Amino acid sequence: MTSIGMVWFRRDLRLDDNPAWATATSMHERVLPVFVLDPALLDRASERRRDRLVGDLTALDARLREHGGSLCVVGGDPVDVIARLAHEQGCAAVHVNADVTPYSSSRDVAVESALSRAGIAWHPTWGTLVQPPGSVRTAAGTLSQVFTPFHRRWEQTPWDRWPEPGAGRPIALTIDPFPTAGPYPVLGDQTGDAAEPGERGARARLALAVSRADAYDDERNTPSIHGTSELSIDLRFGTISPRDAHDAIGVSTPGRAALTRQLAWRDWYAHLLVERPELVSRAMKDKFDAMAWLHDDAGFEAWTLGRTGYPFVDAGMRQLRETGWMHNRVRMVTASFLVKNLLIDWRRGERWFRHVLLDADVSQNVGNWQWVAGTGPDASPYNRVFNPVLQGTKFDPAGDYVRTWVPELRGLDAASIHEPWNAPPLELAAAGVVLGDTYPAPIVDLAESRRRVLAAYEAVR
Ligand code: FAD
Repeated sequence: MTSIGMVWFRRDLRLDDNPAWATATSMHERVLPVFVLDPALLDRASERRRDRLVGDLTALDARLREHGGSLCVVGGDPVDVIARLAHEQGCAAVHVNADVTPYSSSRDVAVESALSRAGIAWHPTWGTLVQPPGSVRTAAGTLSQVFTPFHRRWEQTPWDRWPEPGAGRPIALTIDPFPTAGPYPVLGDQTGDAAEPGERGARARLALAVSRADAYDDERNTPSIHGTSELSIDLRFGTISPRDAHDAIGVSTPGRAALTRQLAWRDWYAHLLVERPELVSRAMKDKFDAMAWLHDDAGFEAWTLGRTGYPFVDAGMRQLRETGWMHNRVRMVTASFLVKNLLIDWRRGERWFRHVLLDADVSQNVGNWQWVAGTGPDASPYNRVFNPVLQGTKFDPAGDYVRTWVPELRGLDAASIHEPWNAPPLELAAAGVVLGDTYPAPIVDLAESRRRVLAAYEAVR
């Protein structure tokens, strides 16, 4: 009898360097590739993220067709869908790459138990992180709560390449119609092959990232240029293997080593969430859960629309809205502005980012929001309040980033563009800027709001 195994793809939309795919094709003669369109996840995603997902699924389907199979797409609750399909198709086992979020962990426990009732084996592997959770430990056997020692251990912990696929052949099965989507969203300078969906595009995007990796350390904080790898979306959907990315970038120059170090941050936040799933909604330093946050809907809306009156913040929030991506430096400044200047709960900002970001990843998003809010492990100190004017002047000195995303300020010169309220009236008039009309006046006073947030933090410390 032919042995059939299922591969349930989730955040690993590739065939290359994919341990679940490799194991299944080695263990079974026929392999059923499945993706579940789970309404619990899709309903929370922006349209652009759905477009990206469907583009990557289409590319995965095309790859499977080269091998005589196809991607079987099924809508519904995975707990029902996977066990039923595996049973109906006579699968001996279901293979997955595990995920770290509380939602995915409890979903997988429920799927595993439904499968075991039907006598079907469950085979989880790790294929979405360089180092799997639990593998990077201090001498005392714990997960480091501070990043630098984690990174040191992470670098020293050996790992083998994931196995090569076996001879198992994919099955072609259609259940639900393949979803359709709008144009595949990519970032600024990703053109040609680098604008293609799926693994092929991801390989070209990795090559682009590698070509500028030597300069990463010097250029990573300049949001007006493509100075970072822009690989986060591929890493989030798994169109690229994190180990392939790690090896392609390497550590041979300071720029490459700095970029590879960022992959360790990614692993660290994922490992922390496995250990502390409550971090999704609770401050790691729990006293901060008592913060007297403001329920400021008007402030929150101005922030999401990029209409706070602070050009660097507004540029970031508009880049996010218009492209589904934002530069890391500006993510830090916009998040700090929400939490510290507007005194709005970090969880509200985290949810907005999670909805809009193409690379939205619960462990990374929560970890970074807690970092900014000063409530997480190895976080920015709670009393560090980014000044959006100084940050803009330092990291966008000519104002090019603001000019790209806040076109109504385009006519201002570099000295005024980050603080138009201090621009000479003649310059404002010549640039066609009327504060409070063509561009908002600042919605909050920086010095006053800084005092307010420091008092609120002190009150709970
Ligand atoms: P690069 O600088 O080229 O880094 C390479 C890779 O390393 C990234 O693709 C990413 O996978 C990882 N990485 C880089 N910086 C970080 C970091 N600070 N923490 C963890 N991993 C990192 N990243 C996400 O992938 N998903 C999110 O939902 C997310 N939310 C964030 C929210 C806030 C408030 C902040 C401040 C940061 C967030 N980040 C998130 C981290 C970071 O901003 C993005 O990973 C980065 O901007 C992606 O661009 P890049 O691929 O060019 O990064």
